[in-house]
Amino acid sequence: MTGERERTWNFSAGPATLPLPVLEQAREEMLSYAGSGMSVLEMSHRSHWFEDVIGEAEENLRMLLDIPSDYKVLFMQGGASLQFSMLAMNFLRPSLSADYVVSGSWAKKALSEGRREGDVNVAWDGAADGYSTLPALASLKLDPAAAYLHVTANETIQGIEFPQGYEVEGAPLVCDMSSDFLSRPVPIQRYGFLYAGAQKNAGPAGLTVGILSESMLDRIPDGLPTMLDYRTYVENGSMYNTPPAFSIYITMLVTRWLRDEIGGLEAMAAINREKAGVLYGVVDDSKGFYTGHAAAEVRSTMNVTFRLRDERFEKEFVSEASGEGLLELKGHRSVGGCRASIYNAMPIEGVRALAAFMESFAASRA
Ligand code: PMP
Repeated sequence: MTGERERTWNFSAGPATLPLPVLEQAREEMLSYAGSGMSVLEMSHRSHWFEDVIGEAEENLRMLLDIPSDYKVLFMQGGASLQFSMLAMNFLRPSLSADYVVSGSWAKKALSEGRREGDVNVAWDGAADGYSTLPALASLKLDPAAAYLHVTANETIQGIEFPQGYEVEGAPLVCDMSSDFLSRPVPIQRYGFLYAGAQKNAGPAGLTVGILSESMLDRIPDGLPTMLDYRTYVENGSMYNTPPAFSIYITMLVTRWLRDEIGGLEAMAAINREKAGVLYGVVDDSKGFYTGHAAAEVRSTMNVTFRLRDERFEKEFVSEASGEGLLELKGHRSVGGCRASIYNAMPIEGVRALAAFMESFAASRA
């Protein structure tokens, strides 16, 4: 692989590191895509070349996630943050109420946007534990008549994730899967709707992927602005207007990489478990020098959050790490401490380099 030495290990929470072979392929095709004599950046989204790109991106997603035929794949813009509003506009009619599991910072934002559109019921809130735990599913306070139950698959800021995902009978499950999308297999039929900003595991910023059960379509009220109505995306193959074409192209390459080089999501999940295990192993063996934020049983495989025994060391940790080419380890300002985001594209070598640095840093401050 060329170019590897000039690259750092980038632990950013998103936009995040992309697979090197994907970047290399994009570079190769930058001036002329598939013999077209132009870049995907310049190409009409109505061209047959781009139709093939968006077609393959959808096909790869369908194959990787085993998406049933009665689910639609939507390519949208506005980030997961727009989905917080849009899903509520589409599925939370004024006379209905929706349940929300408030598991962390992102779930809180989803809840507050939902509240603007209709009644919301907090089925569980992890605030008392600083969002370090997740609920026993049996303890959720669910409304049997709820329009949907909104959950967040992985809380990027706190670093907590349900190992098996949510499985709840009753109202359709609506899920923000932004930060663990494509990190492991998902039983899609459990969900009425799931969505993910692409800029962590699936590609660059600018694209939000939605996977929508057809059974949700007749719940959508008439009169929504055209671009905020999911039916517009369904009826126009996500091309009612100009889609985020280059982002979709990179997502096509990322999903191709997952398919051909990784060998699918089971294989990806095993690699992700191994990577997370390396870092949590260092935390657990550090005799209290490092402490994880998340309760052990809900530790995220994607965002490893931890504190140092002495808060004064955290700044030094982040700056010395960056001197070694290990970047973006500062935790989110709302939680503090440190965070290493190790999405699909972070190789085990990068994780090992960080683990070795953590061990030597701890030894140097002993
Ligand atoms: N949900 C989760 C779980 C996230 O991690 C993020 C982004 N960090 C968002 C929502 C917001 O995404 P966006 O910036 O695409 O609006």
